[in-house]
This record gives sequence, C-alpha cells and structure tokens, in this order.
Amino acid sequence: MTQDVARIIASDRFKRAQEDLAQGHERFVDEIIELTQIPAPPFKEEVRAAAYAEKFRALGLQEVELDGIGNVLGLRRGRGNGQVIVVAAHLDTVFPEGTDVTVRREGTKLFAPGVGDDTRGLAALLAFIRALDAAGIETEQDILFVGDVGEEGKGDLRGIRYLFEEGAYREKIAGFFTIDGLEVGEITTGAVGSLRYRVTFRGPGGHSLNAFGTVNPAYALGSLMAGMARIEVPEAPRTTFCASVMGGGSSINAIPEEVWLEVDLRSVDAGELGKLDAALHALVEEAVAGENARGGQHPWRDPRRADPHRQPPGRADRARERHRAGGLRGASGLRLHAVDRRQLDRCQHPHEPRRAGDLPRLGRHRRTGAQPRGMDRRGARAFTARALRGAGLDPRHGGDGRGLRPARA
Ligand SMILES: [Zn+2]
Repeated sequence: MTQDVARIIASDRFKRAQEDLAQGHERFVDEIIELTQIPAPPFKEEVRAAAYAEKFRALGLQEVELDGIGNVLGLRRGRGNGQVIVVAAHLDTVFPEGTDVTVRREGTKLFAPGVGDDTRGLAALLAFIRALDAAGIETEQDILFVGDVGEEGKGDLRGIRYLFEEGAYREKIAGFFTIDGLEVGEITTGAVGSLRYRVTFRGPGGHSLNAFGTVNPAYALGSLMAGMARIEVPEAPRTTFCASVMGGGSSINAIPEEVWLEVDLRSVDAGELGKLDAALHALVEEAVAGENARGGQHPWRDPRRADPHRQPPGRADRARERHRAGGLRGASGLRLHAVDRRQLDRCQHPHEPRRAGDLPRLGRHRRTGAQPRGMDRRGARAFTARALRGAGLDPRHGGDGRGLRPARA
C-alpha cells in the first residue's frame, strides 16, 4: 500500500495533477467562499445541494443527481470494472438557520461559520476533479463524488447511512474517502463506534411530605449512575462511557414524576460496545426493579400522621382510604413505569485520527478559519494519492506515467 502510494506520488500524471491544484488555487479559494456563503444549516441543505450539483454538472461528472435523502452524487467514470470509490465531503454545517455566513478574509485566512468544516472539503472535491481531468488520469474504478447531508449533530450521518444502506450504489462501493475536519495532515482509518441514549424514568410523583414512600424516579436514576461508575471496560480496545447530561423534577418539595439522563457509550470495538450496551440496559432494569422493591417495602405513610398540620379527614382523604382499602396500595400507579430508552445516536463521526505515516505532515489552522495558502495543496497531495490508490490507478506504471490513459481520450 505504502509502496503503491509512493509510486503514484512519483508518477508524471500525479505531478501534473498537483500542478493543476497549485494553478487552480485562487479558484479553489473562491469556491470555498462561494459555497460557504450559501447557508446549509442542519436538515436544510437543499439550496447548497442544488448549487453543488450544478458544479458537478459543469465539471462534466455523469449521472449527477440528488438521491433520496438529498445527497448530491456525481460519477467520474473509470475503466468500468463495476465498482465505485466514494469521495465525499459534507454539505451541512453545525450553524443554525439565520447565522451570518459572510466570509471575512484576513491575509491568507478565511473566517466564517462552517468554512473549515466542511465547506473547504466541498471545494477540495471540485479541485480534485479538475486536477484529475487536467492530468488525464484514468482510474480502474468509477469515482463517485458525493456532497452528503446530515453529517453533523442530530443529522447523525444520515446522508452517508443512506448511501450505504439504501442508495443505488450501495452494492458497488469498494472504498470510501471523505475530506472533513481541520487536520488536513491526518488520515483517519478507524472509527470509534458510539451509542447514545436518553434514559427517562417516570413514576407517579407526589408531594414530598404527603406522598413520602412513593417510588422516586430520581433514586432509580441515582442507582443507575452509581452502577455505571462501577462498570469495568478494557483499556484496549479503547472503550469508554459517560453519564453526561441529566434533568427532571419540578419542585423541591415534590417527588419527581420524571427524571432523565443522557449517556454516551463508545468503543473502537463493536463487540466491546455491545457488552457495554448490555451492561447499561441491565443496570436500567436493576435500577427500576430496585426502586420498585424499595417503594414496595416502604409503607405509604399515613398522611394523617405524616402531616402535622393535617385537618380532619375530608372527602379526598376518605376516597384515598377507600382506594387503599381496596388493595391498590403498591399497585402499578405507585411503581416506576415507562422507562424510556431513547437512542439518540448509533454511530458518530470518527474522531480517532492516525498520522498519515509517510505522507506530509501539514499545518494546523483555527477552528473556524481555513488557511488557503499552500496548506490545502499539501493536504490535497496526501489525499489524492490515497484516493487514487483506492480507485486503482495502476501502480505498475507509476514512475513514467505510461499506461495512464487520458480519462476522456
Ligand atoms: Zn465535518
């Protein structure tokens, strides 16, 4: 693999592609600015998608279309061995509708919401297509260029999921590359799987004094968290978990009717993630059973004894006594019920970068700033070499460029 990439980098056509990237740098910067200034907030990527599809068409990609979920697809045909290599960047930004997306340029830096993540990636795809054409590079496999929707946050990779699970090319995808993130000198080859839940415990609630002894969802939640703290996970493969955001209850003197907790589980190993997931589910069951058992053992205090300010029994009290006399005490109304484990996320963006090994180490840039000069060309060099290796640029002909027939000869 490393040898193949080295040969590709040494090839004449690859050098020509690099020259084209260098020459086209100002256009690349202009396209970053142009695309950044078309807002693409979460779940509202359509306008940018339409503009991006036009760019694909203008570059001569074939079968340009918006797929069933809104991804922009365009095919660059290779020698046609039936498979495709996907090269993607995401259309959406994390910034909400109404955010000012005007690009500010300071010297060699661009500042705007979403300019680096991932609008520069979109522009890089366009530059990459132009460079392949300019150098007359033909690949064994077709390259499917994709501007995908729903990468960020609650989008939960819905565009890429669709591409792999339902899209027309799903059976043909032999490799997947995406240009994303701010570390252009790193290539990520592994992913951290994650499962995210919001666990909600619900109970009947009640007054803290008068209903004392009623099951309390907060205790179940506390027991769940204490249990989580004792879960043991391996250091390798790296596996982690976190009880992160919690809430619920309505008043200091009320037993909550509802409390909730958001949980993040992660592992680089699917098996370990599964074990961790099972442990969490078991703890939820235990927490509910434990609190229901506690509530059952704990007598519902007689409100007449519990409330020092209690007045003589009124109608409500008599009704309550009849209710209790009917054997309903501790019945389902006083139990925790409807424990809801809403899965928030199945898998998230890979964030375990590995160094690109023999490929050039590149500069860093600021979170919302993309630095147009130089850096991206070097990033593109590393990237194009890997992608071409994936797309089957024949490495035997690497050194002299012979055998690399022009793509549109
Ligand atoms: Zn991104």
